[in-house]
Amino acid sequence: MKKEEKEVIYNLLKSADSYVNGYVRKQFQNQPLFSDDEEVTEQSQQRQQASEPSTNVEMPESQTSQSSEVASSPGPITDSPATASHGMSISELNAKILRCTRCQLARTRNNVVPGQGVENPLVLVVGEGPGYDEDIQGMPFVGKAGKLLDKMLAAIQLDRNQNCYIANIVKCRPPNNRDPLPEEQAACISFLEAQIHILKPKMILCMGRISGQKLLNTDTPVGQLRGNFHDYNGIPLLVTYHPSALLRNESLKRPAWEDLKLFKRKLDQILATTN
Ligand code: SF4
Repeated sequence: MKKEEKEVIYNLLKSADSYVNGYVRKQFQNQPLFSDDEEVTEQSQQRQQASEPSTNVEMPESQTSQSSEVASSPGPITDSPATASHGMSISELNAKILRCTRCQLARTRNNVVPGQGVENPLVLVVGEGPGYDEDIQGMPFVGKAGKLLDKMLAAIQLDRNQNCYIANIVKCRPPNNRDPLPEEQAACISFLEAQIHILKPKMILCMGRISGQKLLNTDTPVGQLRGNFHDYNGIPLLVTYHPSALLRNESLKRPAWEDLKLFKRKLDQILATTN
């Protein structure tokens, strides 16, 4: 295959991937240097040798320039502004999520729940997926656990209407509130990645095991993930217990409060150095 053909295919894949995910993902940000396959190079050398004149005859200048134009490569295809997709807004991305049927959860949902919050949040709060109330209302964390989450956030001066964005690992409700299956998480995670890319939060707060494990790509239990900061592509990330777990088990409230205080201290430090 020729270098130019590889570039065309690469750019088509890049455009398609950016369209699906809402931004140019890391693996497409540095275009590789392509070269002709060896057999193409050999064939063109053989063709060149076969067509070379046996005597040195100088070509007239006009013909020389014409042949060099014909031989010149079309050059790499670059992203048009419409496909560069760096500029996709969170509402444009969420509109795309609302139409998604990538996984089986699309068949049982009442509403897709892309997320809720301000467009330039200090903090992104990540849960695992919508429950019954969220599925009915199309909003994240609106049931009993959601009310507790709002109280937890308020205790550290955070609010989904002022300085936070709330999203989930999967955007559609798993039936009977079961854990989202690995294949459902895998199908949906690029939406959350795109949301993080667009929103650029200063910090991420993961509520519960599934969100912490998925974003950190680990199967470490939540009890071991919490209490310390992790790094998510340069963004400090803290895992704490899901509000539903706190409603089931009172004894988790104390460590969760310690996590929130830790989170708040770090956020204050970040804001002090950036203001
Ligand atoms: Fe699409 Fe995510 Fe809903 Fe599956 S859970 S249908 S991937 S939006």
